[in-house]
Amino acid sequence: MAGRNFLFVPGPSNVPDRVLRAMVVAMEDHRSAIFPELALACLNGLKPVFKTSTGSPIIFPSSGTACWEAALTNCLNLGDKVLIARFGQFSHLWASMATRLGYEVEILETPWGDGAPIDRYQAALAADKQHKIKAVLFCQNETATGVTSDVAAMRKALGNATHPALLFVDAVSALASIDFRMDEWGVDVCISGSQKGLMLPAGLGITCVSQKALAAAKSATSRRCYFDYADMVNANATGYFPYTPSIPMLYGLRESLAMLAAEGLQNVFDRHHYLGAGVRAAVLQGWKLKLCATAPQWYSDTVSAIMLPEGINGADLIAHAFKRYNLALGAGLAQVAGKLYRIGHLGDLNELMLLGAIAGAEMTMLDKGVKVEPGSGVAAAQNYWRTHSQGAAAKGRAA
Ligand code: PLP
Repeated sequence: MAGRNFLFVPGPSNVPDRVLRAMVVAMEDHRSAIFPELALACLNGLKPVFKTSTGSPIIFPSSGTACWEAALTNCLNLGDKVLIARFGQFSHLWASMATRLGYEVEILETPWGDGAPIDRYQAALAADKQHKIKAVLFCQNETATGVTSDVAAMRKALGNATHPALLFVDAVSALASIDFRMDEWGVDVCISGSQKGLMLPAGLGITCVSQKALAAAKSATSRRCYFDYADMVNANATGYFPYTPSIPMLYGLRESLAMLAAEGLQNVFDRHHYLGAGVRAAVLQGWKLKLCATAPQWYSDTVSAIMLPEGINGADLIAHAFKRYNLALGAGLAQVAGKLYRIGHLGDLNELMLLGAIAGAEMTMLDKGVKVEPGSGVAAAQNYWRTHSQGAAAKGRAA
């Protein structure tokens, strides 16, 4: 098909040409005398992205899922208890992984579309007088439903319950696009990946571990080898890796970190809020459809999950968008399969790119019998972006 593929799934996100070019390199010796220059630029460059001065960023040759596993197996003893709210496919998969790996999992079942229930987390922690819960698992941005939850409030709830559990946060679809503060929020492990806000191909599990987590790892008895934190941290201290890293991905990461630093992290968050608010204007005011997120406080600035009217099959709609318009939209997963579609608005994006996605989604919905007014979504987004500026939109945070 002529023309570009419009990639608007919530990860992998679009890789900037500058990053792609940085990755076209000859292979080199990862044990050379100059290799640490590249490795340390990546590891040190990640610290401001995690907003940490005391944590250790770790780069695994993996995707985000391995970083979930690494958090559990490095910090916990087999059979330890963890607490997690399940309110979408990704929090579900993490809970299910913890069960499969042999941990005891207390699940706070939460309607899909709601955010993490802080009060119920706090009640469960307060009720755990013997401190059997060793880790709280928390999904900052549930990509399946387009819902963002409040990590700072979760840390406060742990404090209110005077509970010593470790705090593991999944920021796979939040890091480098929605604010995340490792040190200020007392996060022990932050889990992310390369293919979303970091604007790279999939292939790196990007995680950050606190000193408390590293101390727990010293005595934790769960088995791990390839994803052992200590092996990584020890080798990284000298600028090397315990096994062969993907050199093109590291060059790409160094470039994307430079782009984020040049834009300024706060401007990156503001841009995501401003772009997300324009997409929400298209959905709510233009098309008069609903989001899966049940209230504005949960709206995600990186992904919008758009509910379809009864009788419209989301999978069919997504297939049509791809075949007819070369537009990739995100599918509904598990409980919401077929009921919604998702527009990813994260990474290297601007208004005009998103207008293409909104126009394509609108044409697709019209082709498939969704009763939306032609042009209404595009007009609503245009109006939003013409009347708001990035910083001002971010200050309001209501849209
Ligand atoms: N957690 C969230 C919130 C995600 O969105 C994803 C993937 O989309 C994952 C975890 C799993 O990450 P990966 O696909 O990189 O293994």
